[in-house]
Amino acid sequence: MLSGKDQTAFTCWPMTNILHSHNAFEMDTGEIEDVFRKIREKEEQLVGIYHSHPTAPPNPSLEDIAHANYPEAAYVIISLSDRSPNVRCFQILKPRVFPLLHGISRY
Ligand SMILES: [Zn+2]
Repeated sequence: MLSGKDQTAFTCWPMTNILHSHNAFEMDTGEIEDVFRKIREKEEQLVGIYHSHPTAPPNPSLEDIAHANYPEAAYVIISLSDRSPNVRCFQILKPRVFPLLHGISRY
């Protein structure tokens, strides 16, 4: 998870993938609550959630969209399928996905 202010990330919060999988991820709700408390203590807000696609392009999968519960966050996907990492950002307002070029749009 990424937290910060005014759509700028200042703090990176590495999370545990409780599925222990290379093909899917899920975060522990207790760990999420703990990180949200620490984010509040820093007077920051959730600004992004990042994960990698080891072998797929950097586009949200159907699972990514189904589990996208933070419309205020930029979903950052890092694809490692090419020689160099390829990064794309999206706002996910289920079921719609909007590529982000200039930050989160107000809604
Ligand atoms: Zn994904």
